[in-house]
Amino acid sequence: MLQGKDTERTDMAGWASVWDGFADLWLAQRCALCDRPSPEPLCPNCAQKFQHGQLPQPATAELGALRVLTWGTYHHTLKHTLAALKYDRQRRLALPLGQALGQRWQQHPIPTRHLPVVVPIPLHPEKLRDRGFNQAALIAVAFCRQTGLSLLEQGLQRQRATLPQFGLGPDQRQQNLTDAFTLGAGWHRCQPTQPVLLLDDIYTTGATVRSAANTLRRAGRSVCGVAVCARARLEE
Ligand SMILES: [Zn+2]
Repeated sequence: MLQGKDTERTDMAGWASVWDGFADLWLAQRCALCDRPSPEPLCPNCAQKFQHGQLPQPATAELGALRVLTWGTYHHTLKHTLAALKYDRQRRLALPLGQALGQRWQQHPIPTRHLPVVVPIPLHPEKLRDRGFNQAALIAVAFCRQTGLSLLEQGLQRQRATLPQFGLGPDQRQQNLTDAFTLGAGWHRCQPTQPVLLLDDIYTTGATVRSAANTLRRAGRSVCGVAVCARARLEE
């Protein structure tokens, strides 16, 4: 019970930081990457380099029964942008990341019968406490502003980290993909009936998003796919 209360409080702190992050936009007048004067989170020079990280079309791939919409590869300016967001706590960088991913969705939406609700992949509560915000949630806010899709806050709750699937035995693989997530409090509050679009910052092995999709599908929810800012190779 105590842990549940802690988790809820941490989630609330995470969501409060969404708005703090965007409030930073009006306070900061420098590029978050190169520190040159800039009213935008990225100066024109860094924004141009950022755009070069975009994958050529088409950018959707299949991961089993899950479609993955990817904006770019985890290199160069895109890698620096994601690292600055997470580790330098430059929360305003969620805006260009979410806008870029949203534009990708507008150009190449994953086909669904009904518009999906967006569920960001949550951090483990301990990691959320350490970082103070969930970068996927911040990106999801900007993504939903760009696309007009609805954001389901606390759609999932993380119980433990998932390990990369490679190097695990069959039983370990199955265990790795179950019980990492539970349905979050958002379902009880909003009870949406639309399919879910998962959203995450970086996609590596796919174990995490598959686990999240499995949790939702076992609970009878439809999952149309996942949108990610960057695809990373395992060594990265
Ligand atoms: Zn710059």
